[in-house]
Amino acid sequence: MNRRILIIGLDGATWTNLRPWIEQGKLPHLGKLVAEGASGPLTTTIPPVSASAWVSFATGCNPGKHGSFDFVFPRPNAYDIGVVNVNVRGMPPFWQAIEAAGGQVGLASVPITYPPQPINGWTVCGFLVPNEQAAYTQPPELKEQIKAAGLVWPLHEFEGNRSRDPRKFLQDMRTFDESRTQVVTWLMQTRPWDLVSFVIKTTDTTQHEVWHLLDPQHPRHDAEMAARVKDDIVAYFQAMDACVGQLVQAAGPDATVIVMSDHGGGPFEKFFHVNNWLALQGFLKFKRTPLSLVKRALFALGFTPITALKIVNGLGLGRLRKNVKRGRGRGWLGRLFLSLRDVDWARTQAFSIGNFGQIYINTKGSRPRGAVEPGAEYQAVRDKIIEQALGLRDPASGDAVIRAAYKREELYHGARLSNAPDIILHTDRSKYVSFGHADFGSNQLVEPSIGQTGHHTMDGIVILRGAGIPAGTQITGANIIDIAPTVLALMSLPIPSEMDGKVLFGVETRASGQGDRPRNSPPAGETRASGQGSGDENPYSEEDEEQVMERLRQLGYVA
Ligand SMILES: [Zn+2]
Repeated sequence: MNRRILIIGLDGATWTNLRPWIEQGKLPHLGKLVAEGASGPLTTTIPPVSASAWVSFATGCNPGKHGSFDFVFPRPNAYDIGVVNVNVRGMPPFWQAIEAAGGQVGLASVPITYPPQPINGWTVCGFLVPNEQAAYTQPPELKEQIKAAGLVWPLHEFEGNRSRDPRKFLQDMRTFDESRTQVVTWLMQTRPWDLVSFVIKTTDTTQHEVWHLLDPQHPRHDAEMAARVKDDIVAYFQAMDACVGQLVQAAGPDATVIVMSDHGGGPFEKFFHVNNWLALQGFLKFKRTPLSLVKRALFALGFTPITALKIVNGLGLGRLRKNVKRGRGRGWLGRLFLSLRDVDWARTQAFSIGNFGQIYINTKGSRPRGAVEPGAEYQAVRDKIIEQALGLRDPASGDAVIRAAYKREELYHGARLSNAPDIILHTDRSKYVSFGHADFGSNQLVEPSIGQTGHHTMDGIVILRGAGIPAGTQITGANIIDIAPTVLALMSLPIPSEMDGKVLFGVETRASGQGDRPRNSPPAGETRASGQGSGDENPYSEEDEEQVMERLRQLGYVA
């Protein structure tokens, strides 16, 4: 290893926001890295979901190889939701190559690293750690050492001021980042390291929350509120920039620095309810039991999680809000909402689980009550869904909702392809986001969003600064899977043959191995559809899982 590398992840960071502030001199630390290094957009996975993107970052592989397609997935032998975790990761992360070469690795808040794996170095997990009692560090005693050093590693952002008081919310995000950055700085200063990778997550949370205040074109733009909090928003990003500066300084002048995001951010306006659409098109059928019929009647009348949330929000019934948000039915209120439990599986060809237009075919042999024969019928159902989806128009505006619809083998290749959604509907993300917070969140097809006003886009950011990287240059055509091989190349380490990404800078030595296939060769034929595959050992207890699901619900990822 010929150099040390610090990777700072800024979840959801986008040039749309950062570039103007850099030009105005408001983000001096990021501005300095841009001036001294190479930078440009970083294209992410389709769909642009953090769980898939960060694992693609870690492995340098497409999701067909690593098997992480979203935070949630249908469990193998049930029509229920499983939560992604490190055991789902079907490929080794690139830092194992650094460890194998004797290097010391530090990971902080890198998504989908929980439960923390044995490491030559240290890990502090963040997103999707169920609670403070969980063993979220490696080595395990590190958790207490952080506290003994008088530092605080906050596990979750404080959500209390979300959708209520933007100024307090922004201050909460800032405190959270500063506290975590202190911990990482201390770790860098007190332990040897060759690679440190730390992800600042609040950039994404903030953009979800305040996009309409940044963007005068947004339909929910509130000029008065925007004027009041404009400075606070910039101050939040400046605090983030100061965290970057603190970390870069701790790394020292000889370290190579990479700043990157897992996807970009932008406005959105409306939710698209995929399961409603599938039902309307006849691909999904409901049971005709008395209870399901009553629920459908209530649903038709507007008794849905979204209307209930609007009412509860309007009345200021905070505690009820939680009950409503536990929409998948563990709460008493949730049990009255229409859900996948009301679906008549024997007559259902397709269903959606996830927040990004993921559709699963109810295929015989791979689902407990499959209704579609594999082979010709499977292909015909997919073709029909794709054709109809591309014709879908927003009833209010007439705009096309779906920009592209993919069969999984068009996007992914590898041993985990059979775990992927069968179809991915890529919405026009400037306006539409699939609603995955509840199976049937609303009785509408498309409707204005509540809560969030910003969402993920395909273009993230990347900045690289260090020896051999030409200063002030533009990077084009970079993809999130390129980071892993680039880091290894910069460290003069061989790149595992299975990695799909390309080297952006550095000396490329590619280990030749078996089981590799050229990057752009056609995908293998249709593979057996199955549930989440081998290696999916669930580390969460039932209670842990409920807490993690609650986090995802609060963040708007799942019901
Ligand atoms: Zn993200």
